[in-house]
Amino acid sequence: MNYYRMSETGACPRVLTARGLGYEAAVRPVQDEHRLRYYTLLESIAAQQMADQGYVLEEGGLCEQCGSHGIHVELSTALFKLTGHLDRRLVLSTGVKVPVEIKSIGRFTFQKMENSSVFAVYPEYAAQMACYMEAEKMPGIYWVMNRDTGDNIKYIVNDTKGVLTPSNLGHFSEFTQVTLPVTYQEIVDRLNNVEILLQEKELAPSNITDSCRWCDYKYLCIKEEKEEVAVEESDKTLVEAAQLYKEGNKYKKLYEDATDQAKAILLKHALSTNKYKVSGVSVSYRGMTKKKLINESLIPEEILKKAIYYSNEYPDITIRILKEK
Ligand code: SF4
Repeated sequence: MNYYRMSETGACPRVLTARGLGYEAAVRPVQDEHRLRYYTLLESIAAQQMADQGYVLEEGGLCEQCGSHGIHVELSTALFKLTGHLDRRLVLSTGVKVPVEIKSIGRFTFQKMENSSVFAVYPEYAAQMACYMEAEKMPGIYWVMNRDTGDNIKYIVNDTKGVLTPSNLGHFSEFTQVTLPVTYQEIVDRLNNVEILLQEKELAPSNITDSCRWCDYKYLCIKEEKEEVAVEESDKTLVEAAQLYKEGNKYKKLYEDATDQAKAILLKHALSTNKYKVSGVSVSYRGMTKKKLINESLIPEEILKKAIYYSNEYPDITIRILKEK
C-alpha cells in the first residue's frame, strides 16, 4: 500500500506519479537542508510567540516513527495511507485540542496574505491542512509569522461547529475565519486518480505553473517541452513582422510606463477632488473597489458545468521576445 505525506497531497499529480514510479528526484543543494532547519527553528519561535500570548500548546518534538518534527498523525483509505506531523496542538480551556499549523514567510508574501488569505497565496497548503483536520476531526489554527518582522496573521480554519469561541480563544477578534478551498474527500479523489495512473504505470500530465521552478522532477517536463523544437524562419515578410513586433512592444512598454505615472498623478489629485477635467482629460474617482473572483473549487461540478460557457474561437498563440545572443 502506498504512503503519501499529508504535506504533499496538494502537490502536482505528476510529481506524485513520478515518485511512485521510481523516477529519481533531482538532488537538492545542501543549502536547502540548512534552509529547512532554519524554518523549523522559526516555527519554534512562532510557537513561543503563541505561548507568550497565553496559549497552551502540546509540543511536537522529533517523531520516533518517521524522524520528522511534529506530532505524528495518520489516515487510511482503501488504496493508500496518509501520514503527517502537526506542528502543535492547541489545548483549549475545555480540554479540547485542535491542530495548529505554523508557517513562517517573507515580508512580500506576508503582505500578499494580508490582502487576501493564506490559501489564496498558497493553495497547495490547503490540502495539508484539510488532512490534519480530518485526522483530528477538529477545526484548525493557522498561525503565520512574518519572518522579517515577527508579525502574525492568525486564522481559524473550517470551524463550522463553533469549537473555537472568544472564551476559549483569547484575542479572538485577531483571528480571521477561513474555509479551505478543498475538502478531504476531494484530496482522496485526487490521490485515487494518482493510484489508478500508478497501476497503469503512467505519469500524470504536466501542468506548468510558476511553482514548477521548485520542482524536483522538472527534468521530466522540460524534456517534453524541448521535444517541440522551434524552426528558424528567414522569410523576409516574417522577419519584418518580427522586427515590427519587437519595436511595437518596446513602445507599448514605454507608453504603459508613462500612462501609469500620469495615472498616479491624476489619481492623487482625484482623492481630494473626485471629479475634474484637465487639458481634454476627464477624471472621475468613485472610491476604492474590488474585483469579483470566484473560487471554482467550491462550486459543485454539476453547477459549474452548467455555468461555464465558451467565447468565440480565437487563435491560441504565444509570442515571446527572445533574449539577444
Ligand atoms: S515541473 Fe511542474 S508540471 Fe512538471 S512535475 Fe514538476 S510541478 Fe508538475
